[in-house]
Amino acid sequence: MDRRDLIRSMMAGSVALLASKTARAQNIMAAAGRGMASPKIRDITVINTAPEGSRLCVVKIVTDQAGLYGYGCATFTQRADLIAPAVEAYLKPLLVGRPVDRIEDIWQLAYDSSYWKNGPVENNAIGGVDMALWDIKGRMAKMPVYELLGGKVREAADLYGHADGTEIEQTIESAKQYIAQGFRHVRVQVGVPGMAGYGSPRDNTRMPALHDAPVFEREAAKRRAMALFEAARKELGAEIELIHDAHERYTPTEAVQFAKDVEKFRLFFLEDPLSPEDLQWFRNIRAQCTTPIAMGELFNSPHEWTPLITERLIDYMRMHISQMGGLTPARKVAAMGEIFNVRTAWHGPGDVSPIGHMCMVHLDLTCTNFGIQEYTPFNAATQEVFHGVPQMRGGYLYANERPGWGIEIDEAVAAKHPFDRSNSLNGGWGELRLPDGQIIKQ
Ligand code: MG
Repeated sequence: MDRRDLIRSMMAGSVALLASKTARAQNIMAAAGRGMASPKIRDITVINTAPEGSRLCVVKIVTDQAGLYGYGCATFTQRADLIAPAVEAYLKPLLVGRPVDRIEDIWQLAYDSSYWKNGPVENNAIGGVDMALWDIKGRMAKMPVYELLGGKVREAADLYGHADGTEIEQTIESAKQYIAQGFRHVRVQVGVPGMAGYGSPRDNTRMPALHDAPVFEREAAKRRAMALFEAARKELGAEIELIHDAHERYTPTEAVQFAKDVEKFRLFFLEDPLSPEDLQWFRNIRAQCTTPIAMGELFNSPHEWTPLITERLIDYMRMHISQMGGLTPARKVAAMGEIFNVRTAWHGPGDVSPIGHMCMVHLDLTCTNFGIQEYTPFNAATQEVFHGVPQMRGGYLYANERPGWGIEIDEAVAAKHPFDRSNSLNGGWGELRLPDGQIIKQ
């Protein structure tokens, strides 16, 4: 072989080697593009159950892979009967046959499919589907969902409990019971004589009014709350963190005044001082006092929470996770909050199913800007339906270490706790009126 043949041969070899390397790389890329074959959605149903009285709605997604399914919370107690049709008549036909691994794509598809967006029924339905898909992804990966979100940044979620009573002394006693269990934060609410106060039982008296409905008077409620905080600081000391929920019952100017008045009690936060219709008034509160503010359980839409977070007008976001559309939007908003130093305090009352509570715990475990978690205990009947609920120990809430949400539902037991049909409003709320008869927000 002369020198020219040798060079030609070497070049041919290099080209062949290059071609073989390129083919191999293309194969690898094609395989990576395909990923693992995804199971498909085979069925979507809603489980309605009320083991503690509250109407709980849970979405169940079943896949075409044997034994693979997931659960998501879609609880909207005041309109609970509308969730199953929203899921089964509208989202199911849209989503059956689609791959379960494309959670973001499915969320965007479901969100857009109603054209009109950000209504509470549709949002809760989407939220239930979304959480069920995260549950499935965790079960497929054999990991708790918090691992899919980047892993723990804390061991458990710090909690606040609800201390309440007809009288101030009862509320203080209730707070002491939480403190004895290890709680470092308590929400304090007290009844107002003769009125339907928020977050506390009523006494047997009734203030004079021009109607027979539940009655409320703002100034009396504020004076009562101030007396409660005085007593709480005196009896419970400076160390305990106090929270109070105004439940958007005051006028905007009253809310600003109230936030200023309670500043001296150094609350952990004042919750819902304004209604979603009065968002611009948060600037006035911010400009006039340092009382930390929490807001968001009534929010439906990014149009509501985005300005409050980006303008740093609140300290804690507390949206209802299913109501905002599930884990997918919640984790994005939490990340936005981290950038603007707004912390999380997700809505965690009894009208969230244990699946929804567990979703919040997984977020709490993974978000650096976690603030606090609202706590509601699960009664025995609830734990017979939902196996693996989050566990409270020493004022903290713990996830279990099983894949997905780590919760299994006994559907036969769930069926033994149907919604209470003797309730004339079917779970909807009634009315609250001023003494003169005008309706106000509850
Ligand atoms: Mg509230």
